[in-house]
Amino acid sequence: MVGDRQDGLGPQQAEDLARLREESLQALRESEERYRSLVIATSQIVWNTDATGQVVPPLVSWCAYTGQTEAEVQGWGWLQAIHPHDRQRAIEGWQQAIAAKNLYELEYRLRSADGSYRDFAVRGVPIVQEDGSIREWVGTCSDITERKRSETAQRLLTEASSLCAASLDCSIILKNLTRLAVGTLADYCYFDLLNARGQLQRVAWQHADADKQDWFNQIQHYLPDPNSDHPLLQCLSSGESIWVAEVDEAWLQTLAVNPDHWQFLQALELSSLLVVPLAVHDRHLGTLTLSLTSSSQRHYTLADLQLAEELARRTALAVDNAHLYRTTQETEQNLRQALIILGEHQQQLRTLQRLTDLLNQRLTNLRSLLQFMVDAIYEAIPSAEFSFIVLQNPYTYRLELTAVAGTGVEQFQPGDTFAPGEGILGQIFQVGGSQLFRAPLPDQPLFATSGTSALPAALCVVAIGSAQAGKLGVLAIGNWSNPDALSVENLQLLVAFGEQAAIALTNAKLINTLEEREERLAIQNRVLGKQNRRLERQRQQIQYQNLKLREAARLKSQFLATMSHELRTPMNAIIGFSQLLLRQAKLNPQQRDMVERILNNGRNLLALVNDILDLSRIETGRLELKPEPLNLATLVTTTAEELRSLAQQKNLALQVHINLENPHVVNDQTRLRQVLANLLSNALKFTETGQVNVVAEEVDAETIALEVRDTGIGIAEADLEHIFEEFHQVDQTLAKKFSGTGLGLAITDLLVQMMKGQIIVKSELGKGSTFRVQLPRSVASAST
Ligand code: ADP
Repeated sequence: MVGDRQDGLGPQQAEDLARLREESLQALRESEERYRSLVIATSQIVWNTDATGQVVPPLVSWCAYTGQTEAEVQGWGWLQAIHPHDRQRAIEGWQQAIAAKNLYELEYRLRSADGSYRDFAVRGVPIVQEDGSIREWVGTCSDITERKRSETAQRLLTEASSLCAASLDCSIILKNLTRLAVGTLADYCYFDLLNARGQLQRVAWQHADADKQDWFNQIQHYLPDPNSDHPLLQCLSSGESIWVAEVDEAWLQTLAVNPDHWQFLQALELSSLLVVPLAVHDRHLGTLTLSLTSSSQRHYTLADLQLAEELARRTALAVDNAHLYRTTQETEQNLRQALIILGEHQQQLRTLQRLTDLLNQRLTNLRSLLQFMVDAIYEAIPSAEFSFIVLQNPYTYRLELTAVAGTGVEQFQPGDTFAPGEGILGQIFQVGGSQLFRAPLPDQPLFATSGTSALPAALCVVAIGSAQAGKLGVLAIGNWSNPDALSVENLQLLVAFGEQAAIALTNAKLINTLEEREERLAIQNRVLGKQNRRLERQRQQIQYQNLKLREAARLKSQFLATMSHELRTPMNAIIGFSQLLLRQAKLNPQQRDMVERILNNGRNLLALVNDILDLSRIETGRLELKPEPLNLATLVTTTAEELRSLAQQKNLALQVHINLENPHVVNDQTRLRQVLANLLSNALKFTETGQVNVVAEEVDAETIALEVRDTGIGIAEADLEHIFEEFHQVDQTLAKKFSGTGLGLAITDLLVQMMKGQIIVKSELGKGSTFRVQLPRSVASAST
């Protein structure tokens, strides 16, 4: 056609036309060239087919990507590069597009030359001719793997977040997450969490293949030995994820915890593995293990790892929240429980406190206190329908219903009595302790008197008593209809009440005793008061008598002094004149005898007066010692010599023994001589035969002793204590025989006392006496 037209044109026109043709051919060639370059240059796969859908070579970019040869692509050969699962969809879509002459749009997985699959969006456009028929198809395949991955990841994370938020139960959250993960990220996966004891526990697990789930369940048993360096534990302790793109046999062995597990792992056909830690801040809560099997023909990539880590991060937060929530729930529950218990205890404590307060007061009416107590118990234990106290009567020893409170107790009459050991209560009284009874109760009455009365369905009985007071009675509460109404706690509370009751009763007894004692004391006080008043009167009388006595003594001393003075002057005259008369020779024997008697009686009287004078002086404190240095040996010897004539008259041997290393003493010479002369004259007076010995010796450096021993009549034991009394003479008949005043020893004793010494007497009737005087070597004057 073109040549025909050329032939009809002029030469110039033909030339122009040829040139135009050449130019447009050139433009077409360039355009084709540009198109080819574009196809090569683009990252997309570009293809085209004929109108029937048969691919038309060259398929440069397709072959380059899939590794198929041009020949392999021919016909439907290109389908082999599409993932088997997507192939059917690809064919059907393509056939529909051809039939409908429509745009062909589809997504499928395309295998690359290295065997891995990537996602592609396919788009084919029909080139329609003027007559409406399709000339060819031109299409592209765009790699959308990354976009899809990010979309999937985003969807997964969004879903994971909503699953995390949907529950506060940790195991439910983790179970849902495993289901989610096996659909997208893994062929099987599991969560391990650290429990309260720090041990790993498999909490949730899931396999993508539902048929394998039962078999897969045994994975829960394969937990690593806590002391091993199993990868799970390493991940947990380090907080670092483990990414094994391709699991080989060596790696599989590190995972196996025992031979069974090893077999199990082999059967799982594990090909790729991710272990990521579940951590919140620095706390490691557990791990998430994601696995791919060889059937998936996929391996974990860095993007998978990042996705898994993000999933683990969200899971960890949810787990932590769930833990916190559970802890809070538990704490709240415990708190509520504690508050309830506290409330109950407070109520019971208040009741106990009220009881204790009452006990601290002085009990005037024990019966009303006990009534208050049973009322309080009945109020404090809501499930108790009645309460009562039974006490033992201390006189009859029978048990007596003392106080009753509550409902259904009309059958119990306060004052009812029964014997210890009778009925349930009588037995608890005897055995002691406490007991909770629940229906059916033992086949016996509560107490013997109410044999026909109904038994409660629940009963707590506590024996009341104390070590101090012994058995006192029993305390009981009960419920008529509900066997479970009373608990062990109720029984314990009743025991506490029982202790309070025991204290109350013991106190009441003590107070009674105390009051009785107080009464007795008051009586004794009154008696003592009377006695005191009587004694006071007696004291006053004695004082008065003392005054009178002192006055009498004063008068006596005064009289004695006057009398002695008045008697001594005439007595000296009588003695002097008698001596003068005796010296005259013209007296006849009768006259001489009379004058001698006057002289002797005069001397005796003078001696008596002198003695009385000394005694009165000493008694009134008017006699003073005049100590001076003197030679004791000389004093003893001269005194003995002065009295020797008396010894000679009676034919008695008088011997003096001076056993002094140092004869020097300080004493009142006259009074010391008087002491010795008194003792010596008594010895000579009361001795008829034998001898009288005088001894002077040293007791120690500071003490000297004078001893006068005789072989005379001796002194009876009973008289010894009286011989130093004034005017005392052992035997009046003897006194007449031996003469004397009975004042000598009294004066001697007083003088020795003034000299701070002592007299010791030993005597035996008929054998003789020994008077021993012990004195300080140096005697102080009365004024010092
Ligand atoms: P009297 O002037 O009677 O001797 P004393 O006071 O010296 O008075 O003695 C009291 C009594 O003690 C004497 O009457 C005598 O019974 C008894 N008595 C004193 N010394 C002796 C003695 N050496 N032997 C026996 N009896 C003595």
